[in-house]
Amino acid sequence: MSKKGRVFSGARPTGRQHLGNYLGAIRNYVALQDEYDCVYCIVDVHALTTVETTQELRQNTAEMALDWLAAGIRPEETIVFVQSHVPEVMELHTYLSMLTALGKLTDLPTFKEKVRQQPENVNYGLLGYPVLMTADIVLYKADIVPVGIDQAPHLEFAREIVRSFNYRYNCNVLVEPQAKHTEIPKVIGIDGKEKMSKSLNNHIELASTPEETTARVREMVTDPSRMRRTDPGNPDVCNVYTMHKVFSSQEDVEMVDVECRRAGIGCVDCKKLLAKNMNADLEPFRARRVEISSKPGYVKEVLDEGANRARVIARQTMKEVREAIQLP
Ligand code: SF4
Repeated sequence: MSKKGRVFSGARPTGRQHLGNYLGAIRNYVALQDEYDCVYCIVDVHALTTVETTQELRQNTAEMALDWLAAGIRPEETIVFVQSHVPEVMELHTYLSMLTALGKLTDLPTFKEKVRQQPENVNYGLLGYPVLMTADIVLYKADIVPVGIDQAPHLEFAREIVRSFNYRYNCNVLVEPQAKHTEIPKVIGIDGKEKMSKSLNNHIELASTPEETTARVREMVTDPSRMRRTDPGNPDVCNVYTMHKVFSSQEDVEMVDVECRRAGIGCVDCKKLLAKNMNADLEPFRARRVEISSKPGYVKEVLDEGANRARVIARQTMKEVREAIQLP
């Protein structure tokens, strides 16, 4: 079947992936492969704008790639690679930076937020982040970029840079990427409050054992107004119920919805049921992860091969870019 176009997406190397990564991005990555040529990049250079030490970068990259593959990314079709393995992106970033007004970068809410978060490390890379992101996308002539509603302005920014390039150099070399709006669910952590994240330690790792997963589910915060087993609960404000909707059968979801409201089920049993369903859902992932891990060097091979294929596209784009600019 011929595919509809090329998708590009990048993610920072954050090591072992958790349910938030899975439900927010990886599941969508896997599904997109059926309809599009996909290019998925682990953006290690972007990570340098915020990381304090690079000791874990390699390990985190390998673990993340392993999780992607175990989740169903198919490297025979999809290009999976590491950003820094295709250095052409740095060159394109430089050319695109000449077309980007400084004021636009300093005005971006994401930049302002980073300045607030790390006032002691407001580096140049942090400011140029959206330009490097544009280079990532257009180097591979991606037609489509999956974005959540909150990232849409970044893609619009990328499209503006592309238009500036094509206008300035009177060409059609760079492709204006289209946003594929995806409903990216905000996955709440086991604290029941914040977005699931490793740094807040409110996450459940995909690669956890069934026992570890069950223990984490047991820790989940439930409806705070349900103090006793005999109190009726409200599943609409309970993250355990939200997770049931993802991992449990329709029948179980309906049962929890009804029984929670009339105190027919206690939170302990409700969580046991969730853990059971979650573990059943994650079982194929875990089996594939074990299988892939048993082949030493496989993940590295996939990333090397991905970089080779990515570089073929990147070299061609850069040839056209240099010609368009009329570099001597
Ligand atoms: S019974 Fe389930 S849905 Fe209801 S409050 Fe307890 S954990 Fe949440």
